[in-house]
Amino acid sequence: MSAVLQEPARELPVFGAWDVVVVGGGPAGIAAAVGAAKHGARTLLVERYGFLGGMGTAGGVTNFAGLYGRRRGEMQQLVHGVADELLARIDALGGLNKPQDGMGGRIRVRSYDTSVYKIAADQLMAAAGVELLFHAWAAAVLMDGARVQALVVETKSGRQAIRANAVIDASGDADVAAFAGVPFTVGDGHGSGLFPTTMFRIGQVDAQPALASVGEFKAINERMAEVEAAKPGVYRFPREGAILRPNIDPREWRANVTQIRNAQGKAMNGVDARELSEGELEGRRQIAEYFRFLKAEVPGFAQSAIVEIAPQVGLRETRRIEGAYALAGDDILSSAKFDDVIGLNAWPMEMHADGRIEWAFPRDAGNAYNHLPWRMLVPQAVDNLLVAGRCASMTHEGQSAARASGGCFVMGQAAGTAAASLGSGRFADVDVSALQARLRADGADLDG
Ligand SMILES: Cc1cc2nc3c(=O)[nH]c(=O)nc-3n(C[C@H](O)[C@H](O)[C@H](O)COP(=O)(O)OP(=O)(O)OC[C@H]3O[C@@H](n4cnc5c(N)ncnc54)[C@H](O)[C@@H]3O)c2cc1C
Repeated sequence: MSAVLQEPARELPVFGAWDVVVVGGGPAGIAAAVGAAKHGARTLLVERYGFLGGMGTAGGVTNFAGLYGRRRGEMQQLVHGVADELLARIDALGGLNKPQDGMGGRIRVRSYDTSVYKIAADQLMAAAGVELLFHAWAAAVLMDGARVQALVVETKSGRQAIRANAVIDASGDADVAAFAGVPFTVGDGHGSGLFPTTMFRIGQVDAQPALASVGEFKAINERMAEVEAAKPGVYRFPREGAILRPNIDPREWRANVTQIRNAQGKAMNGVDARELSEGELEGRRQIAEYFRFLKAEVPGFAQSAIVEIAPQVGLRETRRIEGAYALAGDDILSSAKFDDVIGLNAWPMEMHADGRIEWAFPRDAGNAYNHLPWRMLVPQAVDNLLVAGRCASMTHEGQSAARASGGCFVMGQAAGTAAASLGSGRFADVDVSALQARLRADGADLDG
């Protein structure tokens, strides 16, 4: 049997034409679409699911990280702009938790209700005038020299072409960039990467005993170690460090405890069709096992129930493009500053390694944030494409920090704002100081 088949060429109906087409509705895509529409671009956001939020909803993340960090010794919100508008809408609908501190006061996060996030994101798109095409899977691009002429999507109405003057790839997986021939690396470049996690939420928790026993950030790890010592072999934990945190209502908790390997024992590859499918099964198997432990061994969880297993396995890292600059691990640890700053990242390196999580914090604890440079959005070889979010140009180590929602909002807003005025130019030639002035005027924090 032949390993390949030829697909006959065919004509594609044109769905429409937009100034800016954004692929992916995670934090990067949301901010990109709002940024572009705000600056007068006719903007279409294409999303394969029927709701926005990306990993934040489809991956069940339930928590914004990277928005807060220490500057001049003071813990403060360092990411502003479209992120503020989204958070305000989630808050107005009653879905945003108060800031929660962890890791000895070195991190501050805000958890949210995923259903409220979806509604708030819909509202934000409508208010900004962004058009949406849900249930559309970006499947190819049609090129005109070094420009993307049209995006090809698979929909329930069939395969269609969407013309675009500028395209922003916020797919998380750099799907569009890969179609367009942009060079990329998958994971650590050696067959592994940041390990994926299937998230789940637990309801009907007895809040007081649960908070008293595992309310502190790392208390669940101690409980796991105690139970392992007392009852060796009774439970199999997929990794050492669990993150088990209360949501807005402490009768509901989020669990970030699974770790998905492939048959070789490496991180599951989220852009390999077969591994992705097998990973879904493995995630749910691990959840069933961990929930057995929670119910039997952790105070407050005896009568609890799983209220949601996330719609898909949570992917931290797949493809990262090679762009004009790759944000590196040392940029995080040295609190790097760049002339072409487009916003700030306030999240440390969080490496989901085999069996454990490794954290690495900036050396200057009082200024624990770094600049994100414009060049990390600009791919090689394609003139009218930007790549924002967890698949932007970063090293494996740099991505372990800037992939958090805060950094993705920053990258998306800058990409959308720049795309609105691309005209017939190239992103490689963008006037960065004019872009920075627009971002500042729109409330972004560029650190001065
Ligand atoms: C288990 C887990 C826990 C995490 N915990 C936190 C946390 O506590 N706090 C935090 O801030 N961050 C956390 N993160 C990281 C963060 O959620 C992601 O890195 C962030 O959502 C990435 O944003 P993005 O917009 O780049 O991509 P994504 O959020 O991945 O969004 C990409 C979007 O593109 C869509 N898409 C993909 N391919 C296509 C296609 N071909 N056609 C059409 N649509 C497509 C997807 O459906 C999705 O909506 C976590 C991640 C994981 C996996």
